[in-house]
Amino acid sequence: MTKPKVAFYWNASCGGCEETVVDLNEDILKVADAVDIVLWPVALDFKRKDVEALGDKEIAVSFINGAIRTEEQEDIVKLLRQKSGLVVAFGACAHLGGIPGLGNLWTRDTIFHRAYKETPSTENPQGTVPQEKTDIGIGELTLPEFYDTVKTLDQTIPVDYYLPGCPPPPNLVMNAVNAILKGQLPEKGAVLAPNKAQCDTCPRNETKPEKLSIAEIKRPWQIKIDPERCFLLQGLICLGPATRSGCGETCIRANMPCRGCFGPVDGVIDQGARALSVIASLLGLEGEKKMTEEDVKKLIDQIADPVGTFYRFSLPSSLLRRKRME
Ligand code: SF4
Ligand code: SF4
Repeated sequence: MTKPKVAFYWNASCGGCEETVVDLNEDILKVADAVDIVLWPVALDFKRKDVEALGDKEIAVSFINGAIRTEEQEDIVKLLRQKSGLVVAFGACAHLGGIPGLGNLWTRDTIFHRAYKETPSTENPQGTVPQEKTDIGIGELTLPEFYDTVKTLDQTIPVDYYLPGCPPPPNLVMNAVNAILKGQLPEKGAVLAPNKAQCDTCPRNETKPEKLSIAEIKRPWQIKIDPERCFLLQGLICLGPATRSGCGETCIRANMPCRGCFGPVDGVIDQGARALSVIASLLGLEGEKKMTEEDVKKLIDQIADPVGTFYRFSLPSSLLRRKRME
C-alpha cells in the first residue's frame, strides 16, 4: 500500500517546532511507519529538485513552521502549496508571526544596521552588510531578499489548518496526524486545539474573583509569585483571558503567566487588542476611589513593554501588522 507523503519545512523560526516532532518520542516511529517523509531539512537530506519532481498535490500534507521573512521562504512555501493536498501552519510563528514577527517594529535597514554595525560584539570597520548579489570574479553569488515586513504563512499562501503553540505540544501534533490519516479533520481553516480560553481550563481559575481591579502592575521577577492564585490578582499580566487553551497550561503550571502563544479563540481577529482591552478594563484603584489622570499614567507606565506584552506572538497577524515608519 502506498503511504501518504508528508513534508516538514521551516522558515523564520527558532527550531523549537522541529523539537516537538522529536518530542513525539516513540510515537515518531508510528508516524514514520504510517507516512512517507519527502522533505524535512532539519533531519533528512532532500533537495528542492526532489520536491519539484513530485506531482501537484502529491504530498498529502505539509507541516510548515516559521514566519515568512525572506524571498526563499516565500518561494519554497509556494512550491509546497502547489505540491500539497493540505498545508498546516505549524506553531505560533507560522500561525501568527511569532517572536520573529516583532521584527515588524523595525525596518530591514534598521535591523541590518543594528546586527551588522552596532552590536557590542560587531567588528565590521568597512560597514559591510549582506547584498542580494555579489560578483566574486568567477560568477555571481546571490542571497534571498530579506523582506522589510515579516508575514504569517497565511498572508503568503492559503493554509488549511493551524496547529498553535510555541511550540505545539506533542499530543496536539499526534491528534492532528491521526485525524489526517483517518480523514477525520474539521472544517478547513480550523485551529486544531480546543476553542476555549486558558482561563476556562486554568487550575487557578477558582481564585479569580468575578470583579477584579489591578492597582499596581508587577513583573514576575519583582515578587515572590504565589503558585496557587490567579496571576492577575497578584498584579502580573496574564494573557489567559485572551488566549486559546490546549497547551496543558504549561507556563501557568510552571508558575509563569500565560504569554499568549496559542493565539486567540475563534472569532477574535486581533489577540493583542483583546488582551489589551481585558487588562485595561481591570486597571483601577481598590474600592470606589476614582482614578486621576496621574494614577492612570502611573499604571500604564508600569507596563514595561506594551507591544512585547500584548503582541509577543501575534504582531504580523494583528490589524496593525507592523509599526508605521515615517
Ligand atoms: S488570568 Fe491567567 S492565572 Fe488567572 S485564571 Fe486566567 S489563565 Fe489562570
Ligand atoms: S500558557 Fe500560554 S504562553 Fe504558555 S504555552 Fe500555554 S498558551 Fe503558550
